[in-house]
Amino acid sequence: MHEPTALLAQIAAQVRPLLTHGDLPQYIPRLAQVKKAQFGMALATLDGREAVAGDADVPFSIQSISKLFALMLALERAGDTLWRRVGKEPSGMAFNELVQVDQERGATRNPFINAGALVVTDVLCSHFAQPELALLQALRSHSSDEAVDIDQAVFRSERDSCHRNAAIAHLLKSYERIDNDVEVVLDTYCRQCALTMSCRQIARNALALAASGDAVAEQGGRGLSAAQRQTVNALMLTCGTYNAAGDFAARIGLPLKSGVGGGIVAVMPGVGALCAWSPGLDAAGNSVAAGRAIELFAQQMGLSVLGSSKQHLT
Ligand code: GLN
Repeated sequence: MHEPTALLAQIAAQVRPLLTHGDLPQYIPRLAQVKKAQFGMALATLDGREAVAGDADVPFSIQSISKLFALMLALERAGDTLWRRVGKEPSGMAFNELVQVDQERGATRNPFINAGALVVTDVLCSHFAQPELALLQALRSHSSDEAVDIDQAVFRSERDSCHRNAAIAHLLKSYERIDNDVEVVLDTYCRQCALTMSCRQIARNALALAASGDAVAEQGGRGLSAAQRQTVNALMLTCGTYNAAGDFAARIGLPLKSGVGGGIVAVMPGVGALCAWSPGLDAAGNSVAAGRAIELFAQQMGLSVLGSSKQHLT
């Protein structure tokens, strides 16, 4: 039995030596200036409890965690027709891989690499007049917190230097995989990446994915079916941490989504959601300390969906 607040405090202390490790994402100039020695962690459970440690209420740039929330909104809106536009296979490549897109003639492997996420954003652009506002509204509502916002400085910083994403988007357009104007899709994509949220807000938003059966209405009202939630969780497990997904599956064994802002969110099916954040990144772009913190939590609680030693919270 573990008392959640004490467990998170213990993990925060254990990862403290890692806060100097890793690098900041130099390709987004505004994020390269963030203070590295920060760490937060938040747990939200299906039975309505929350526990936090460290900087759990400090907003940070969610970056690719937005790919998860954009996917959830697109699935709610477009339903399973979305899967005609984007695949469900790991890419085995970096998140911003370009050559694979060309080799596969514009087919996108999954919604969590940039190419697939640009297609999901394109779907949102087709369904909403102001897609970033629709996303913002959904995130505020599921956080029960109006403070979720878009950091304009981060948006400008990435938009002015997103040459690689622009190349991917134009390549997709050349294969007729993007319906809307490329500049509009890039604007929307960079705005969604510039969303700022705290660990607590992110955990609350991911909670719906942990729900079992058809209990989704009570878990924040996300309009995803049990089968859709299972698909999203499977994609998080196999593709949520890019070319490190196999290693993370072995170490942690939970559906995860990371972002270069240093956040990682984990879904614990049947239990809840956990988000950890620390800005220093490893070579694949995943937070060193946040990854270790989630690993320690999963180990202590025996939570790996691939293991067999579940513990219980008191
Ligand atoms: N905005 C970043 C990009 O598109 C997101 C990448 C990430 O968080 N892995 O490159």
